[in-house]
Amino acid sequence: MSIIRQDLASKDWTIFSTERAKRPFDYKKEEKKQVKKEYLKNCPFCRGNEHMTPKEIYSIRQGNDWKVRVIPNKFPALQAKELIKATTERHIKEPYLYMDGIGSHEVIIESPKHNDSLPIMKIEQVDRVIQAYRQRFINLSKSEDYQLIIIFRNNGKIAGSSLEHPHSQLVATPFVPSYVRTKLYEAQRYFDDFGTCVYCDMIKYELKNRERLIYENDNFIAFAPFASIVPYNIIIIPKKHMSCFLELPENETRSFAHSLKIVLSKLYYLLNDPDYNYVIDSTPPDKSGERHYHWHLEILPRLTTRAGFEIGSGVYINTIMPETCARLLRDCKI
Ligand SMILES: [Zn+2]
Ligand SMILES: [Zn+2]
Repeated sequence: MSIIRQDLASKDWTIFSTERAKRPFDYKKEEKKQVKKEYLKNCPFCRGNEHMTPKEIYSIRQGNDWKVRVIPNKFPALQAKELIKATTERHIKEPYLYMDGIGSHEVIIESPKHNDSLPIMKIEQVDRVIQAYRQRFINLSKSEDYQLIIIFRNNGKIAGSSLEHPHSQLVATPFVPSYVRTKLYEAQRYFDDFGTCVYCDMIKYELKNRERLIYENDNFIAFAPFASIVPYNIIIIPKKHMSCFLELPENETRSFAHSLKIVLSKLYYLLNDPDYNYVIDSTPPDKSGERHYHWHLEILPRLTTRAGFEIGSGVYINTIMPETCARLLRDCKI
């Protein structure tokens, strides 16, 4: 029999239908890892090819050498108003609403080396990537043009990555989409009902129950959510309440980097470098300090395909229970 579980925070339902499932290990990627070179002549993100990218926005350097670079996306979905002489003004073309494509679309190059990757990088380097995320988030949050800042990573072709060189992206938008507004609203409703942050309550429960816990350090935990929407869905979340990514203290970036590196390594070894997306889910910057929301990083491996039912209903059918995924990830030696 299938079971239907509800996510405590979003109130979305997931159908667990484990009978139609492959065994958990059948999700392991078949193809062999290719040996990649440290430098590729035609890769714009490789050290030595800096002239092939748009002008750098931010970087972390050691001597003459850059360690992390942030550049504008060459084919941006949105652009700063100074560049395109635009405004955030809304226009109406009866009955429709539209506006100029204002925003920021940036690429965070995570390493000068083409064959680097977060699971194998030194912790110092993963920490630099997190510091770059934090700095760009802080910087963009000062602009009144942007209402939402999303930092994300697409790993592998199925996850939408077109360039092999390790990189993440950031998009700042001049509006809050309804998808985000709904999540914030549901969290606020929980706060109104119970007087506590829904994520803080989940953290408390997962730490006590431990069945879905994957990793824990002083400041962060990683767990498989109760109503996981896909196999190996993982959330990494600060133990201390913080609503906006902006609130991550400088002295905790390393602890966050550590949890990210360990969790991604476990996925890498257990499933042979699966395609995945991760995204930092946070309140908009101007909602920093809210008591009802709690920022976190969510990993969504792309092991199954979203089909008609999912698209039509917004309800996912998951074929592995999160308890199974958490146990396999916990047991995976790295
Ligand atoms: Zn490269
Ligand atoms: Zn909280």
